[in-house]
Amino acid sequence: MVKKKREKTKRDSTRPRMSEMPKRKCKLCEDQVQVDYKQPELLRRFITERGKIVGRHSSGACAKHQREITRAIKRARIMLLVR
Ligand SMILES: [Zn+2]
Repeated sequence: MVKKKREKTKRDSTRPRMSEMPKRKCKLCEDQVQVDYKQPELLRRFITERGKIVGRHSSGACAKHQREITRAIKRARIMLLVR
């Protein structure tokens, strides 16, 4: 049996590269929001219907804020402010 060499995948030119995508600024940075566990309304934006914390890719938060959100949500869960 002859192994077929896999063809090099050509870049799909219809899809923009990550470097070409418009830079999306973190909403929390823009508004200079201090993430706190006492703001269930704010935290709820970062929680799915099933109570999971939304990942950075879908939430659009920067690393710093994502960390704060995660901590705040975990605290809020203990305080029963959110699920
Ligand atoms: Zn941010």
